[in-house]
Amino acid sequence: MSRRFGGRARDPDGDALPAIPATRLGAVAGKQGTEAGMRKVLAIAAMLWSTALAGAELPVFDAHIHYSHDAWDMFPPKEAIALLRKAGVRRALVSSSNDEGTQKLYAEAPELIVPELRPYRARGETGTWVRDQSVIGYLEERLRKFRYAAIGEFHLYGADADLPVPRRMVELARQYGLMLHAHSDAEAIERLFRQWPQARILWAHAGFEQPAKVREMLRRYRNLWADLAFRSDHGSSGKVDRAWREAFVEFPDRFMLGTDTYTPERWNFVPEHAAWSRRWLADLPREIAERIAWKNGEEVIAGAFAGQH
Ligand SMILES: [Zn+2]
Repeated sequence: MSRRFGGRARDPDGDALPAIPATRLGAVAGKQGTEAGMRKVLAIAAMLWSTALAGAELPVFDAHIHYSHDAWDMFPPKEAIALLRKAGVRRALVSSSNDEGTQKLYAEAPELIVPELRPYRARGETGTWVRDQSVIGYLEERLRKFRYAAIGEFHLYGADADLPVPRRMVELARQYGLMLHAHSDAEAIERLFRQWPQARILWAHAGFEQPAKVREMLRRYRNLWADLAFRSDHGSSGKVDRAWREAFVEFPDRFMLGTDTYTPERWNFVPEHAAWSRRWLADLPREIAERIAWKNGEEVIAGAFAGQH
């Protein structure tokens, strides 16, 4: 683990400044339209700028958080939420085995948590669920009871995507208008899109594929996004890898961050992961960094969730 995130470069986040909202300045200038007015605008700009400097930290949308049963005792909901806040996470896409964990966190901080439904009731179902009919009843029951932004993260590879249980899961996502969060190879992603061409899919870990392959898939599917959870080949020691940079520049709207708290201990790592992400993001143009850090998740996931009702 230390190797993956071993680069302890000096934190370059000092230059990470939130933009001053132009609308606020424009509103003041429009009202005054005089020299005094302009001075006021500049004064406000300076004030906003210094506020930005003081609190300079790129917000994070963490699109890959799990809060499964074995994490509940080690990090009770209040502590888990405190860790997310400490990390500067403004929103997190959370799923858990079983779903009770997600509901606990959502109840604790509905403004912070975007719920996602996993087809697992306990750890260890990642390989068996595709042939387990009882998964369907579980999904149906939860979907009737609670609201979600997505179904996932599920593990699904190759031809398994066309087995009856995953097919039924895709139908349910369609019925409820939910995104799919797939830990899958490219073949399973293709099969999911064949089943439901209008699907919106978040490709977990960008499929652990090379950037060239990820770009090829993003070009092919307009409704495909990729989270960068549990990989570090895209950035280290505050530098973005060249091939990945090309992918981010070509598709600034399609990537998201993720910590992947797949074991309880990984919760300790949430703030460190956010800080590490801010270091490599600082090597990208500010606009692209903001999109990947939080704006994409906010628009694509939180926006759709908020728009459901
Ligand atoms: Zn995961």
